[in-house]
This record gives sequence, C-alpha cells and structure tokens, in this order.
Amino acid sequence: MTDYDYDLFVIGAGSGGVRAARTAAATGARVAIAEDRYLGGTCVNVGCVPKKLYSYAAHFHEAFTESAGFGWQLPQPAEFDWATLRDNKIEEIKRLNGIYGRLLEGADVRLINGRARVIDAHNVEVVGETISAAKILVAVGGWPWTPDFPGKEHALNSNDVFDLETFPKRFLVLGGGYIAVEFASIFNGLGSDSHLVYRGELFLRGFDHEIREFTRNEMEKKGVNLHFETNIESVEKQSDDSLKVTLTNGETLEVDALLSATGRRPHLQGLGLDKLDIELNPDGTLKVNDRFETSIPSILALGDVTGAPELTPVALAEAMHMTRVHFADEKLPTMDYNNIATAVFCHPNIGTVGLSEEAARAEFGAIRVYTADFRPMKHTLSGSDERCLMKLIVDDANDRVVGAHMVGEDAGELIQGIAIAVRAKLTKADFDATVGIHPTGAEEFVTMRTPTRC
Ligand code: FAD
Repeated sequence: MTDYDYDLFVIGAGSGGVRAARTAAATGARVAIAEDRYLGGTCVNVGCVPKKLYSYAAHFHEAFTESAGFGWQLPQPAEFDWATLRDNKIEEIKRLNGIYGRLLEGADVRLINGRARVIDAHNVEVVGETISAAKILVAVGGWPWTPDFPGKEHALNSNDVFDLETFPKRFLVLGGGYIAVEFASIFNGLGSDSHLVYRGELFLRGFDHEIREFTRNEMEKKGVNLHFETNIESVEKQSDDSLKVTLTNGETLEVDALLSATGRRPHLQGLGLDKLDIELNPDGTLKVNDRFETSIPSILALGDVTGAPELTPVALAEAMHMTRVHFADEKLPTMDYNNIATAVFCHPNIGTVGLSEEAARAEFGAIRVYTADFRPMKHTLSGSDERCLMKLIVDDANDRVVGAHMVGEDAGELIQGIAIAVRAKLTKADFDATVGIHPTGAEEFVTMRTPTRC
C-alpha cells in the first residue's frame, strides 16, 4: 500500500466515516478524512442529538403539569423560550464537534476541511489537492428530499428546522416516517399547534400495526392533529409571513412553519462517482458487497449512502466491520442486520426489536402474541391519561421471542436490554423465569402469562 499517499481516504466525517477513520488508523493504516460541513455528520449536527435534546425539552411541558398531582406548585402556564433551547443546543453541538476533531487528531488521522471528489479508483481531489489512496471510503450519508408541489420553496427540511429564528406557534410536518412523527410530537410538546399530514392511511409503515395504532391514539390524545390519506396540494406565503397550506382533500391549514420530512436521498451530487459508472441499487444508493466494496473494489462505501438501515449504530457497526475485514485482514461472516433495536422519540416513545406481529405471522405461521396495555403507576397521581403498551411475539414452534415492542415512557431505554434477549434467541420460558423489578412498568415484560391471541 506504500505507493499511495494514504492507505485509506475517507469522504465524510459523519457517524460511519469518523469511526472507520479512527479504527483503521488504530491498526496502523495511514488515514485522511475530508469533511465539507460539520464534524460528526448528520447525527451530531442535524439528527439524533439535537432531536433528542428537543424531545427532552418537549417532555418538560407535560412534566410541569403532571407535577401538580405530586404536590408541586409551579406558575402555570410555564413559559417556553425557544431561543434558549436553540442556543444551548448550538453550544452543545460545538462542544461535540470539538470532541470529534480531537478524536481524529488523537488517532493521527489527517482532517481536510473541504468537499471531496473522486477522480478515479485511487485518487481524490479536495481543496485543489489531488490525493491518492489504496482505498477510498465513501461515507457521505444522505440529504433531505422534498416532493414537488407549488410553494415547495417555503418548506423547511430537517437540516433547517432546529435553528429557526422564531418559534412556530402553528407547525405542520409532511411525512409518515419516524422523523415526521418525532417532529410532530416535539413541536406539540413545545407548545405549537402541531399538524402531521401523510398520504397513507397510517404513519410508521413497517412497524408493528398495533403499535402504530396505539401511537396514533396516544399522539391524538396529546393534541397532535393527524391528517391521513391526504397530501399537500400547494403552499402560499401570506402577507404576514404565515403559510396557507392547501391539502388534496380540500382542507386548508394556516401555519407558521412547514417541515418536509419525506425521506432522504444519497448525497452523491458532485462526488464524481457517476463518471466512474459505479453500480447503484434501484433506489439510487451505492451498491456494496458484504465487504463494503462497490463495483470498483478499491472504492468502499457504508452508512446511509448504501441504503443500509438509516441509523447511527448501523453506520458505526459497518465501519468497525469494514476495518476488521480490510485493515485487520479478518475473515468475518456478513454483517448481521437482524434484530436491530430502534426507538422513535415521539411522545410517548416507541421502542422495538425484531419482527412485527404481521411479519412473524407471515414467516412462522403459528405465533403467540402477549400484550399488556395499562396506565403507568406514575399517572395515577399525575392526572395524565397516557397509557403504555408492551408486546411480545413468540414463535410457537420453539417458544423463541422473535419480537418485542413498546409504546411508553423511555421505551428506547427499556427495549435496548430486551434486544439482547431477542438476539440471544431466548424463549418465552426464559422471560417467564426472570424475576421482575417492582414497581416498574418493565416488569410487565416478564409477567405476561396468557397469550392475547395466537
Ligand atoms: P452522515 O452522518 O450523514 O455523514 C456524512 C458526512 O459526509 C456529513 O458530515 C457530510 O457533510 C459529509 N459529506 C458529504 N459529502 C461530502 C463530500 N463530497 N466531501 C466531504 N464531506 C462530505 N439515527 C439513529 O440511530 N437514531 C436517531 O435518533 C436518529 N435520528 C435522526 C434524526 C434526523 C432528523 C435525521 C436526519 C437522521 C437521524 N438518524 C438517527 C439517522 C442518522 O443520523 C444517520 O443514520 C447517520 O448519521 C448516518 O451516518 P453516515 O456516516 O452514513 O452519514
């Protein structure tokens, strides 16, 4: 590998790129990385991190109201200052950007601030410099995509929404994926009159159906206005800067901000790969084999740009797998994408791992479904009518738990532990033999004895 300037040149210092650069450098490889926007990529700057901070902020709203039943007396209504949240978030992200920079520096990775372009199988151009590398890793992530409709220029995307100058008192999000559902909850919690518009009959396609329906009911109870089976026909900016949104069902809504959360596309523009005729998947993402090699074997790719599940821990796992295969010469089986747990930070949260009831029934035929739908103990005094749903799906043939789902407070925190059990192929008998922790909601996961349905 010594004929090249570097052993590895990484394009994109996001979740996957930084982890790949650091782990490859730790094997002794000479590594450089280019980043043209922000260290840490989507997750740190305009994704997971700011979103979770805003979700915490939104949860305080109901916590203040609920605290009265526990004896707390606070001025009501509590006032929310958007600028404080936004600016504190900006400072926290600057701190994280610094940490990423120091991690790369400490790993002896050369960081180049600029947009990189692939010239050929071993050469990259960035800020006027041509750099050669034995391997080039494309970890450029995705970019928000908005469908066409008259007035689309008035729509924000998820890159813009965190840093709004003023707080939108009336907020509309277009889309039915997890990001749309999260933002509808967040702005509702922060005090906006919040609307979600989705063309399908129910949001969160691919998730367990009962979980989707339960979430819809809980979000409606909290005041999110859900508009299904309709779409945006047009948007008009009015003289007071508000937006008049006309829906395809004839309804009109007046809002102060419109967020399009309608999916992301691979961030390949201007990268030069089109000139190399690199192979793409039908959805436009980069096609890679189980070693993360594209159709040009010295050009590797991972993370969102490959169409893998668009999650930070997936990009991180792929990066570590890639390093072990390419720089530690390990012979590894294909990375396992089964049983990846995930959370949706709507209010209340969703946590999920494994198969939905529908997918399990299609795969195994005979299944047992256990559910617990209850009012959490906290809400006996809080006055909230929020409910919690927990659900286990069991393959009847061998008693294995193949899916675990929850809608309720901190569902992501709880399902992470259950995910280990599901991945380890533990049985319902193992769950039943586990002594619960009392008093918690989580103990329901080990005390559901009678199937709700088979
Ligand atoms: P990215 O993190 O997107 O990094 C790509 C980097 O490459 C960027 O920094 C970009 O500026 C840079 N780049 C692109 N082109 C070039 C070029 N030509 N030259 C130099 N640099 C370039 N995931 C979760 O697991 N949990 C969550 O809660 C979650 N919430 C999310 C919320 C939102 C609103 C969004 C948008 C995403 C969320 N995600 C979440 C998804 C997660 O952010 C991504 O899956 C993850 O960031 C993918 O990592 P990546 O390395 O593939 O790409």
